[in-house]
Amino acid sequence: MTSGWYILGAEVDAFERGFATYCGTRHCVALANGLDALHLILRAFDIGPGDEVIVPSNTYVASWLAVSQAGAIPVPVEPLLETSNLDPALVEAAITPRTRAIMPVHLYGQPADTAPLMEIASRRGLTVIEDAAQAHGAASRGTRAGALGHAAGWSFYPGKNLGAFGDAGAVTTDDDQLAARLRVLRNYGSRVKYFNEVQGYNSRLDPLQAAFLRVKLQHLDNWNSRRARMADRYLAALSGVPGISLPHVPEWTTPAWHLFVIRCTERDALQSYLHSQGIGTLIHYPVPPHRSGAYAGTPAAAGSYPLADELAGTVLSLPMGPHMTDDQQGAVIDAVRAWVSRRGSA
Ligand SMILES: *Cc1c(COP(=O)(O)O)cnc(C)c1O
Repeated sequence: MTSGWYILGAEVDAFERGFATYCGTRHCVALANGLDALHLILRAFDIGPGDEVIVPSNTYVASWLAVSQAGAIPVPVEPLLETSNLDPALVEAAITPRTRAIMPVHLYGQPADTAPLMEIASRRGLTVIEDAAQAHGAASRGTRAGALGHAAGWSFYPGKNLGAFGDAGAVTTDDDQLAARLRVLRNYGSRVKYFNEVQGYNSRLDPLQAAFLRVKLQHLDNWNSRRARMADRYLAALSGVPGISLPHVPEWTTPAWHLFVIRCTERDALQSYLHSQGIGTLIHYPVPPHRSGAYAGTPAAAGSYPLADELAGTVLSLPMGPHMTDDQQGAVIDAVRAWVSRRGSA
């Protein structure tokens, strides 16, 4: 605050260097939020009207909105039920001559299987854009999220594993040209003040948020290992509990455990029971994008995405986060087990 520098500048540069190093990429370009990050990646790759981008059918609506804002069409592909992530085996069938990019989402902090997507992309001349908004610190086959595709969009919304004290976002990439274009796009399309090369945007990070993020980045690995210990405990304590499906963790992934999402066919009853016990849970997400008002009347709304529907009707996010105590987690586990046994004996 005493520096008198309020937009971009040295503090933002320092965060960008730190986060690029953390992810293992050549560049990080800090932006105003995660939606802008995904949208501006598409703009910087000249993906727009007439183009199609493959997105998961069961993601947070922001992934789709980024594509729509760029003027392109989101083409949904169904996930694998056990990981909730894009099923690579279904991607090829969704590719048309208009397809330009594939946007896997590392949903709930579980890395999507980007290796087969990169193989398809190189064969078909496509770009892989990671929606890494839930995956700070996650890794796949030893490579961090953010370095698994051609570019990654990040959100530092306060509730994410690495969160600012307000809105913030970034792109990580090894692509020099893409990074340079993003730096121009985020600042009114200008490299030099008042010389506007292209019609850009205002999507800049401020140094106050960058300073908070630089401090919090030093704690991210500790917080993530606390999340991982909690996830292990949930997996052990709830495995084999009838009626509860647990997230499957492929052996090649290190999830960031942004959320711990179980599936239960009587989800609403379980959720109300937990609430009656003072345990707050959330549903990520109750309405798949193709059924949301935002996509009413679009081709996606006319499509059939039974797995996205099934997930929306059955998922429940149990409390998860480095702030939780072991006793609090124990109470959640006890309550879930109590509900299951009451239901069994009813
Ligand atoms: C949070 C989130 C975004 C958007 O980030 P904002 O910073 O809120 O704009 C995009 N995709 C996913 C999967 C998210 O969870």
